[in-house]
Amino acid sequence: MIEDKNQQRTPLSDLGEFALINHLTKAFKINHKSTIKGIGDDAAVLEFKEKRIVVTTDLLVEGVHFDLSYMPLKHLGYKAVIVNLSDVYAMNADATQITVSIAVSNRFPIEALEELYSGIETAAKIYNIDVIGGDTTSSTSGLLISITAIGEVKEDNEVYRNGAKPNDLLIVTGDLGGAYMGLQVLEREKEVYKVNPNNQPDLEQYSYIMERQLKPEARKDIIKLLNDLDLKPSSMIDISDGLSSEVMHLCRQSNVGCDLYESKIPLDPQVISTCEEFDIDSTTIALNGGEDYELLFTISQDDYSKIKANPNFTVIGFMKEKSAGMHLITRAETKIPLKAQGWKNFND
Ligand code: ADP
Ligand code: MG
Repeated sequence: MIEDKNQQRTPLSDLGEFALINHLTKAFKINHKSTIKGIGDDAAVLEFKEKRIVVTTDLLVEGVHFDLSYMPLKHLGYKAVIVNLSDVYAMNADATQITVSIAVSNRFPIEALEELYSGIETAAKIYNIDVIGGDTTSSTSGLLISITAIGEVKEDNEVYRNGAKPNDLLIVTGDLGGAYMGLQVLEREKEVYKVNPNNQPDLEQYSYIMERQLKPEARKDIIKLLNDLDLKPSSMIDISDGLSSEVMHLCRQSNVGCDLYESKIPLDPQVISTCEEFDIDSTTIALNGGEDYELLFTISQDDYSKIKANPNFTVIGFMKEKSAGMHLITRAETKIPLKAQGWKNFND
């Protein structure tokens, strides 16, 4: 939001492509035995022995997926890694390597890319990921980032979206709606700033939801916990588009129905108070908000004792026969069909 006039701005053209790649990637260290060859050759070389490999990729486009007027580049780099790792963990796999490709216009100085890469480096360090390659090219306008993540999982330990059975319990980690409400506050402050640039916003009371939007985490800890509990979910998905649409993905792919209980949906107090302030219904936000990067999974009722009383997990419903349909059971105990609004179209 605030541009530092004293900041150094070295044009990208000061470095050639190779010097730039070298400059941005020189800090990356290799930590995994499975990485035989990282950055520097025509391709990376990996060896996973008896493990199965999962691969996932995401493309982020400026103006579509992020807005640099309130998203610091360091956070963007961090988040771009996180959204990919979340998909790897949703397979019950451990993430091990990423590649990072960027297209960048000359509107960005080298210092901006350094910021982006410091966020990528921080995420790689915290989640123990080797950065093993990428591509760097120019764009006529704006910034694009594409990250591919690779992970490993023991044979038959991977969890798909399609394994849920009737009577399985539906479980979610953490709490929901924070990232969306954080975005609402940021959008509001951006409008205020446009009118009065001297008005420094006080965002202290929104610290949790701000962090959920700007610096989300992926649930690597849950994959370890599930393993420690000797618990393999029957189906799993990460929550990127809102609870409602993710529940529907599990149901449709597993050929089952479900009852989801409004009263059980976990909400942080800051989400509840911010929803009141914006006069929006917190259930609607949890169902359609998106970008929470929590995990949603189903387990057999026989496994209930393994998760009960664990504060990481909330049972929010159970699966039914397909013919029963997919429903939200409201606090007033009325049954309404689930709808997948998705957060993108949510503003109108
Ligand atoms: P090529 O011409 O074969 O595509 P490059 O010169 O683009 O090779 O890349 C050289 C090396 O640097 C490769 O290992 C590539 O994976 C890596 N690399 C290129 N761009 C990036 C980037 N933005 N981030 C991380 N690694 C990169
Ligand atoms: Mg290349």
